[in-house]
Amino acid sequence: MNHNPSTSAFFSATEPAAFEVVNEQGKSNVVLVCDHASNRVPACLNKLGLSDSHLADHIGWDPGAAAVARLLAKNLDAPLILSSYSRLVIDCNRPIASSESIPEQSAGIMIPGNQNLSAYERDDRIQNLFIPYHAAIDALLDTRLLSNPQHPALFLSIHSFTPFLFNQQRPWHIGVSHKNDDRFAKNLYSALAQQGDIIVGFNEPYPIEDAFDFSIPTHGETRGLSSAMIEIRQDGLTTQTGIARWAERITQAYRTIEVEY
Ligand SMILES: [Zn+2]
Repeated sequence: MNHNPSTSAFFSATEPAAFEVVNEQGKSNVVLVCDHASNRVPACLNKLGLSDSHLADHIGWDPGAAAVARLLAKNLDAPLILSSYSRLVIDCNRPIASSESIPEQSAGIMIPGNQNLSAYERDDRIQNLFIPYHAAIDALLDTRLLSNPQHPALFLSIHSFTPFLFNQQRPWHIGVSHKNDDRFAKNLYSALAQQGDIIVGFNEPYPIEDAFDFSIPTHGETRGLSSAMIEIRQDGLTTQTGIARWAERITQAYRTIEVEY
């Protein structure tokens, strides 16, 4: 970790920007984000000292979440912003003051490239990854709200979660969480639960908390947008068929409640 921000570029010429915008002009009321879309690590950080298998595991990203989010963007004609780099480089859904922002370990795995970082090294990741991603979300929401202030806007983040935590099997197939404003999440939860053959968590497997979440509190709540976070269990997302099925379930659920907004 001898990267020096003053003398070298953070990204190489062939690496993607910090974020990707899909279907920017989408007509839907809902804006989608995927904070943990990718397990890519900038080349300058040498895979953070991790093996490819550790980076491919859930500690590096939310497997399947980006694929579902892209299908939702298409099905709903919604704009989508995805982070292009691993949560282990800097977690775009954690406040930068959180100890989990640049984690020194995750799920018992020590992250060699995150040990004893200097203020410069931390700031490099904040300036090159975290800030551009959130600035892109801000800009998209600004543009949509400015162009039509009366137009309602919903904010939905897409995540995936591990089937087991501490050797305990998690019962939910999917979960919907909210923070202060529960309208959108309650409606989505009910519409998913009415599908009948799945276990839907409400504020499970994770509630949204200011200390551990950034996107919904910052972009949704502070703007007064009805917001929700969806978490899909990763064992349902291991095949293209599974990914398409979950995208279709969420699409159907959203369409049944869309009229409310
Ligand atoms: Zn996530």
